[in-house]
Parts: sequence; structure tokens; C-alpha cells
Amino acid sequence: MADKGLTYHDSVATNVDPLDERVPGKPAELKKFAALGIETVGDLLAHYPWRYADSREVTDIASLAVGRNVSLVAQVRSAEVRLAQKTGKPRVEAKVTDGARTLDLVIFMPHRGAADFHVKRLVPGSLGLFSGQINIFNGRLQLANPTYAIFGHEVDEAVALEEAEWPIPIYPATAGLESDKIRAAVRAALDRLTEQDVPDPVPGPVRAERKLASRWSALRGVHVPQTEEDWRKGQARLRYEEAFVLQAELARRRARAQREESTARPARAGGLLEAFDARLPFVLTEGQVAAGEQIAADLERAHPMQRLLQGEVGSGKTVVALRAMLQVVDAGGQAALLAPTSVLAAQHVRTLRALLGDLAEGGLLGGSEIGTRVALLTGAQSTAERRSNLLEAASGQAGIVVGTHALLSDPVQFADLGLVVVDEQHKFGVEQRGRLQAKAANAPHLLVTTATPIPRTVAMTVFGELEISELRHVPAGRSGITTHVVPADNRAWMDRTWSRVREEVEGGGRAFVVCARIDPDEDDDGTDGAEVFDDEPVTVGEAQAAAQRAPKRPLRAVLEVVETLREDPRLGGVAVGLLHGRMTSEEKDRAIADFASGRTPVLVSTTVIEVGVDVPAATAMVILDAQVFGLSQLHQLRGRVGRGSAPGLCLLVADAPEGTVAAQRLGALAATTDGFELARVDLELRKEGDVLGSAQSGKRGALRFLRIVSDGAVIDRARDDARALVEADPELAAWPALRAAIDLQLADGREEFLGQS
Ligand code: ADP
Ligand code: MG
Repeated sequence: MADKGLTYHDSVATNVDPLDERVPGKPAELKKFAALGIETVGDLLAHYPWRYADSREVTDIASLAVGRNVSLVAQVRSAEVRLAQKTGKPRVEAKVTDGARTLDLVIFMPHRGAADFHVKRLVPGSLGLFSGQINIFNGRLQLANPTYAIFGHEVDEAVALEEAEWPIPIYPATAGLESDKIRAAVRAALDRLTEQDVPDPVPGPVRAERKLASRWSALRGVHVPQTEEDWRKGQARLRYEEAFVLQAELARRRARAQREESTARPARAGGLLEAFDARLPFVLTEGQVAAGEQIAADLERAHPMQRLLQGEVGSGKTVVALRAMLQVVDAGGQAALLAPTSVLAAQHVRTLRALLGDLAEGGLLGGSEIGTRVALLTGAQSTAERRSNLLEAASGQAGIVVGTHALLSDPVQFADLGLVVVDEQHKFGVEQRGRLQAKAANAPHLLVTTATPIPRTVAMTVFGELEISELRHVPAGRSGITTHVVPADNRAWMDRTWSRVREEVEGGGRAFVVCARIDPDEDDDGTDGAEVFDDEPVTVGEAQAAAQRAPKRPLRAVLEVVETLREDPRLGGVAVGLLHGRMTSEEKDRAIADFASGRTPVLVSTTVIEVGVDVPAATAMVILDAQVFGLSQLHQLRGRVGRGSAPGLCLLVADAPEGTVAAQRLGALAATTDGFELARVDLELRKEGDVLGSAQSGKRGALRFLRIVSDGAVIDRARDDARALVEADPELAAWPALRAAIDLQLADGREEFLGQS
């Protein structure tokens, strides 16, 4: 097939055909298709069933989504005609059941005869497929004016004989365009296509090697299955395809990056790195050594390193990054360290200077001969300070330049930028990388550290073009951390919480008190970057639980909590400091310094302390309104305590009734400190689509079958295949259908996360 630079749409010959040429539909119907994003035959074929019904199977009513259009298989329990009191209009009231719960059905009818007709169809005990929107009416769940088909005696006889046993595909539907109509349209479209009409993004040799069916037969399998195996195989093939297309693009980007030139920065004997290692106050963990070796080897190559260092909170990523920076400085280059906040940037400078000692006083009287300098560049500096730091960076006197991301947009010049470390970040886009490139003669080496551990398969996808180093363990000698959930409305537990804080302080410790908001007088804008979860009821089961719950109270705010704690007799006059994102950098630095030194051993803060803040004396953390925080955020927060030799304590004060998603999050957090395990749980608890960002859900080209968390084996295979393909054909010149599929995925917003690395 010749490539005409067309999109994937066009690559299926009939895909561009507007629906009206294929579907014998009325214009009104076409509009309804358009409302589902279906305008062409290609769109229609990519509108996959979300499940398959079987007349032997019944749907779990508790799992249905309120407000959504659903199709469920259920058993009729009763059906009768009622007349409206005022108008006398008839309606059918029926109950259907899944065996455990019942759901009300109501069908409004213009006259009695029509209503009676429905009652005759809805024979108690019969099973049927009911489609419509789930609503809550008078506090009860109901399905109003559903369309339905009763199994056994209502299907077209001729078709029934042949197809009665086939699985019934059930499509995402809308009011007026039920699953059945979509099913008929898909079949009509599919019946006209042959294998030749449907080009395949998975190249023939790969298909042969993996024994994969063609895309055409996969489409038939998912849309018109004759057995369960048909749709399962079809889905498996499409799942592989999704992984493969994604990995092909990642492999192509990785190959492009590897073709770039960079300056090799080999380790040098007798340099800063050696001197640094000699004065390290601790022994590197096995993981740190291994990651260090991988990085050292990368830096010796004349192509830019592209590496992700991911590891448990407190596993010592900073030291690994610092050692990489020193290797580059030893080789005559400079390193930039980008931190997500200015608080963290300032802390890094303090840590680096402390660890380096006189090695960081290069050029100063009394400094080490091989020494260099560490410059800090933030927006909050005085003009004079800033100017001298800019000069140190531009002249090369400063081997290490620390700053926030503003460093990239700034007119900061480097003498010879050799390495960029992006610390504790999830998002570092293509655009930013471009800006970096502009600051170096050659592409600099890149090391990204993640703020939270993420499962390997997610890392492979989100950071797919990066090589991965992992720190699985925290340094020995930490006493660990105990976590408890404290119900906010339990007076005795709350008393105990604050007296525990006091005891920690009296024992020489420090305690963080974390709030979700800054200012009590503001609605919800003062979250200071907290990822606040507001768990709307999603399913019928949750809605029923929510209805029984007390109304929500407003979230506690830093400015209010700091006042009440200063007066609180349970804290016995302990000094309380405060920290939030609206303070100036100097104020923030002072707040952390006062906390570290013990001047204010209790610090009330927003999540600005989430990432990276390292105060080894901090032993306790109280998180208020813990139910609104995300799991990985809670894990990060908790990682701020128990970093020294004293055991840590984390108290999650929460309003999270049993059975809610929030309660599950908190339960998981109390149960383990393994960040990788928590990341896995977190992804499972999130709704579909959230893994890769909301932009991915529901769109054409979004991942429909691939589950990044659980489909590790598929992703592994697809990556191997994609890398092999790209090795032979770096720009995929021979595979237009694959290139077209990549373009389609990217056109639909996938670029967003592909670029985040
Ligand atoms: P993170 O991986 O969360 O960024 P840090 O780099 O901030 O962790 O390290 C956490 C703390 O552990 C720091 O105080 C650091 O000095 C210390 N640390 C790092 N490596 C080791 C080690 N091998 N042994 C003991 N302490 C270490
Ligand atoms: Mg860190």
C-alpha cells in the first residue's frame, strides 16, 4: 500500500467514508452517532463493545454507573400498570433483579393498551437485556424508559436459530442510540469489508512471529463474535496492537536521541568524585552503587544519557544524582540540577554544600584545589546575588548550578553544560528539553528522578524512551514508620493524637501537621497543589453508601489550624510554625530552618513539604483530612518523617467511612510502606483513563484494551518487537500503516504523556 501521508483514518480504505453511505440511517440517527464521536466508518469500527452479555449471565446492579447509559442483563421480578393520580396517564412499573439488588424500571405510556403490552412481555422470572440511563428518583435508583429485549422468545427467529448462542456485544450507548442499534450499524459496515480493506499497523513479519491474527479478523472477533474465544482473541490482538504502536513511537524517539551527539564525560581519577566518596558519612546502598555504575557508563558515551532514576522515598536518589554531577565536573563540564520548588532548590544547595564541604569552595582561599562551586538561581534572589551567580554559571566557576525550572527559561548561560538532573519530577516535556539543548553546544546528558515510585510497566510507557535505574531499598538503619488512621470525629483519638505530637517534641523530635488548604476563607483554590480527591459516587453501591453519610465538613486550612494549635492545651505551649506556597522563598526557608533547628518543632504546612524536604529530626506527621489526598501523595508526605534513626509516626486524621475508596486508600497506606506496592494499588483504585491522564479516556486512539498496570508481559513483548523493527528501519519507512497509527494516537493527545520524560 502506498503511503500518501494520510492519517490512520484513511488507511482503512473505507474508513473515511461518511457514515451515511454505509449505515442506512436517518439524519437524526447520524447526529446521535456524531454525539458519540462517530462520523466515519473508521470511527464506528473503533467503537468497541465494553462488554459481552450472555443469556446465562446477570449483571451486578451495584456496579452500574449512576447517570450513565447502561445495558444490564437482569431477571424480571414484577411488572404492573399504574395510573398517574392527576392525569390518569398509564405507566409500567417493573422491578428487575441481579439476585442481590433490585432496580426499578419505569416506562411511561400514552395509553393503557401500550402499557399492557409491556406487562405481557415482562413476565416475572424471565431474563432480558435492559438499556437506558440509571437515575435516582425519590431516593431510589431507576431505569426510566429503557429499551429491552427478553431472551428466548423475542429475537428474530431466523437469526435466533443461528445466533442464539453467540455472545451479545454491548456498546457504550446514549439515549436514543442503544447498544442494539450500534451493533446493527457496526455489522453492516463490517460485512462490506474484506481483509484487504483493513491495513494492519502490526507488520506482517511481527504478526507471523507472534502468531497474531490480522486486524480485520480481530475486528470481526470483537464486533461479531460467535464464541467467547473469538472476542477474547480479538481483544488480545488489539491489546497487543495498542502496546506495539505506542512502543514503536517510543523506540523511534529513543533511536533518534541515540543518534544525537553529546560530549563524553568519563570518570577521572583523583577528582572531586573520589574525594567526595572518601568523605561520605555513610556507605552507599547496593542499589545506589548499581545505579551509579549504570550512570557512570552512560556518561562515558558520546551520546546523551537518557535515564530515569526511580526509587523509594528516602532511598537516596540525591546522592546518586550528585555523584553523577561530580563525574561531569571532573570531566570539565557543568551540571544543572532542576528542582520542582524553590524550597527544594535551596535545600539541595545546603545539602550539596554540606556534603562537599571545602570541595564546594573552589577558587576561595582555603578551598580545596580540585574544588568547584555550587550556585543557586531562583527568582527570589536580590539582583546582586543573582548577578554573581549568573556570572559563576556563565564563567564555569560553578560546576553545579541549582535552580527551579525557571532556570530553563532564564537568560542563564553555561560555559559547558554537560548534564541536566531533573529532580523529583513527573513532568519534563519535549519543549523543556529543547530549551536545554539550546543552552549546551552538544545535547547534554539527562538524568530524571521520579517523585514517586511507579510500577515498571507504567515507567516503561510514560518514560518509555528512557533507560531505567531503580533503587528498591532505603538505607539500612532506619527504624521505619508506623501509620494509623484516626477517625476525625473520635474525640478520644484526637486528644491522643495531639498529646502524641507533644510527646514526640518533648523527646527531641519534630512534627509536621499537614492541611489540604491554606486559607479557611477561600473555597477550594488554596489547595497549594494538593491533588484533592473528591470521590463522587461512581456506582450504585457507592451512591447508596453516600446517601447514608453525614454532610461533608469544610477542609481544615493552615492559617486556621496554626492558630488553634498555638492555643491548644493538648500541645502544652509547644512553638508552632507555618509553611505554605504563598510565602516568599525567604519566609519558606526560614520556616524550614526553624523547624529543623527546633525553634518551632511543630510545623503546620500544606503539601509544599511533599517532595524532597529532608529534616532527619522529623519523627511525626499528622495529616488532616487525609481522605482527600491521593495515595502517592500521602506516601510522599509520609516519607518526610522517620528519615533519621528514630522511628517515625504518621497519623492520618480522616473522615472516610468504611467501604469508600478513600478508606481503601488509607487502609493501603497504613498496611505497607512499599512505594511500588502502593503505586500499584493506587493505579488500581483510580478510574480507568486516569493512569495516563484524563485526556486519554473516551477518545478515539485512546488505550481501550491495554491496561498499563497489569499488561506488563504484553508491553514487554511489544517493546522488544518495536525496538527490533526500529533497529532495522529507524524511521519506519517501510511501514506506512504503522506510522499512520502512531499519528492517530498522537493526534489524540497521547503526545502529552509521551513527552513527559
Ligand atoms: P530521596 O530518594 O527521597 O530523594 P534523599 O536523597 O533525600 O532521598 O535521601 C534521604 C536521606 O538519606 C538523606 O538524608 C541522605 O543523606 C540519606 N542517605 C542517602 N544515602 C544513604 C545511605 N547509603 N546510607 C545512609 N543514609 C543515606
Ligand atoms: Mg530527593
